[in-house]
Amino acid sequence: MEKEKLAIHGGTPVRENKIFYGRQWIDDDDVKAVTDVLKGDYLTCGPTVTLLEKRICEVTGAKYAVSVSNGTAALHCACIAAGIGEGDEVITTPLTFAASANCAVYVGAKPVFADVNPDTYNIDPDSIEAHITEKTKAVVAVDYTGQAVEHDRIREICDKHGLILIIDAAHAIGTRYNGRPEGSIGDMTCFSFHPVKTVTSGEGGAITTNDPELYKKLHLASQHGIVREPSEFYFGEGQGSWYYEMQTLGYNYRLTDVQAALLISQLSKLDKFSTRRKEIVNKYNQAFNDIPEIIVQKEIPESDTTRHLYIIQLNLDKLSCNRKEFFDAMAAENVQCQVHYVPVYYFPFYEKKGYHRGLCPVAEKIYEGIMSIPLYPLMSDKDVEDVITAVKKVVNWYKK
Ligand SMILES: *Cc1c(COP(=O)(O)O)cnc(C)c1O
Repeated sequence: MEKEKLAIHGGTPVRENKIFYGRQWIDDDDVKAVTDVLKGDYLTCGPTVTLLEKRICEVTGAKYAVSVSNGTAALHCACIAAGIGEGDEVITTPLTFAASANCAVYVGAKPVFADVNPDTYNIDPDSIEAHITEKTKAVVAVDYTGQAVEHDRIREICDKHGLILIIDAAHAIGTRYNGRPEGSIGDMTCFSFHPVKTVTSGEGGAITTNDPELYKKLHLASQHGIVREPSEFYFGEGQGSWYYEMQTLGYNYRLTDVQAALLISQLSKLDKFSTRRKEIVNKYNQAFNDIPEIIVQKEIPESDTTRHLYIIQLNLDKLSCNRKEFFDAMAAENVQCQVHYVPVYYFPFYEKKGYHRGLCPVAEKIYEGIMSIPLYPLMSDKDVEDVITAVKKVVNWYKK
């Protein structure tokens, strides 16, 4: 293939307008759902939130769901409900958004980083096991890009060592593992409904569980630690009807009815979103599988994945550029990529706590070469073609 001059060097960009790595899809039904609630009696904590939690249970196959104000709050509540605290250790992956580790810090515990599988980029069960100490209390396993973690093996390890398994499924609503929807497998599963995620409520999150005791604790953690049901009062029944009881220290992490309405409407389109995401992933896989300069993320057969992110990993041995040069060249072609993620312990907050580079060599190597290319259901076939063309054009320029 003849080398076509890159836009970053003054050539013509692959497309005229910029495309970004992710974007929500809001339609008229979503708008109507929100305005209907605005005209009703409840803006928050009303019947729409109750309905949403029921819908989340249906979608995830979980017995209980607690909606919260965002995915970070979901992780915080899960750590509280798990009873994690001072002196405990929580094992997670470095290849994630910082919140997956920060939630342990919120409750006074120490995040411990296990390395990832070099092919799937998900947390490596062997590395989890290698990092277990007598202080380990829980594992926060992240379904990175939407692909389910190796649930069976991780469950086995957690059971063997008496650990609580929290799944950070912020990327993974709609994903199934051996036919079971994500959300019904871990002890608790946390979701995020930020606009870049598969379904959105603007800001929003949820925790699902099958355990009634955890459910109660999640509820308390997210609603000021307040109980309203007389049969559950510590000081007994027979109080005045105004009485409610604060039993633990909780937070105001409530989702509003306005957001819940949007999310219910979005969830009704989850299958459609999921199908379109899978179509685009297939097109990308087909386009990139035969390009030796690009490494495609591998999937385990157990995961039927609704992909949140599409990652390309540059095979840097075969290219004369680094990731930054490739990334900037893509942006000049008007394909705005992103990098998910800077290993969490690279950040100054963690470095100051004594974490250092070299902790997770596999994750660090992956980080050097990855970027997320645009993936969202509203992309047209032309958009998808443009992204493929841009990747091929930049590869062609820099290949050795
Ligand atoms: C988005 C995200 C979160 C946090 O969710 P927010 O709703 O933004 O608070 C947590 N973990 C992962 C892996 C995420 O991608």
